[in-house]
Amino acid sequence: MKQDSIISIKDLRLVYPTEDGEQVALDGITLEIVRGSFMSVIGRNGSGKSTLAKCLNALLLPTEGSVIIDGMDTREESHLWEIRRSAGMVFQNPDNQLVSAVVEDDVAFGPENLGLPREEIKRRVADALEAVDMTESRKMAPHLLSGGQKQRVAIAGVVAMKPEIIIFDEPTAMLDPEGRGEVLEIARQLHREGITVILITHFMEETIESDRILIMDAGRIVLDGLPAEIYREAERLEALGLRLPFAVEIAQRLRAEGVPLHADLLRPEELLEEIAALCP
Ligand code: ADP
Ligand code: MG
Repeated sequence: MKQDSIISIKDLRLVYPTEDGEQVALDGITLEIVRGSFMSVIGRNGSGKSTLAKCLNALLLPTEGSVIIDGMDTREESHLWEIRRSAGMVFQNPDNQLVSAVVEDDVAFGPENLGLPREEIKRRVADALEAVDMTESRKMAPHLLSGGQKQRVAIAGVVAMKPEIIIFDEPTAMLDPEGRGEVLEIARQLHREGITVILITHFMEETIESDRILIMDAGRIVLDGLPAEIYREAERLEALGLRLPFAVEIAQRLRAEGVPLHADLLRPEELLEEIAALCP
């Protein structure tokens, strides 16, 4: 059976005009993303990740090629608002996404723009705040919250639009480890509830739980596979300026020293269990 693609990208090129000519940001991307999947995108700065993200919700239109979101071509102007609703974006800096003086008003902003009935808006705001565990802070001013809490409010604002897809563009880059963990856990929870998640990150550690990892370099996809497949390409990753997840790197080094660990250990707990089992 053919798997159901929610995103279909064909021969996508994106060229920015610049003062002294042009900058090619995406150079021939062809990609199908399965509905309900969790995909991580990683690559060094300037590799085209944010540009790709912006192409997915029609903030940018292809210079060449096409981007189809749930059957809608991003070049069709009549689809613009439905594409923006169905493919929500969470950016690196939550301060740029929060617009109101009170948390719950901020979350209501999107649904209000959809012109929904009051009761429906109230219900969506309550559900979205519950989903990110921010119900207790609903009357607070966003600027008094921690970075992680602000990011959770920004996510609630997207969730309240009932999107099919959420694209997280380095959502943890400005957060402390605790905030990072919370935001990632919310992304995983939304995925379990059926939302297609695209997580752009520069922490390889954050890609472990994904169904698929895409590695970008200079506007192209250079690796595409399951986490275990990607992590086997240690030399390739190093050349791309990427580090392996901690447990994977330790396991590979131990194996190189002759310790009989099984292949494709991904998580610290798995590594610990294997090592403990080897000890007399
Ligand atoms: P990433 O998110 O992986 O760091 P970007 O998508 O932001 O990469 O950038 C890809 C390339 O496009 C880079 O070379 C960057 O300098 C360039 N670029 C991004 N935005 C613009 C812009 N508005 N105008 C010109 N060049 C841009
Ligand atoms: Mg970026």
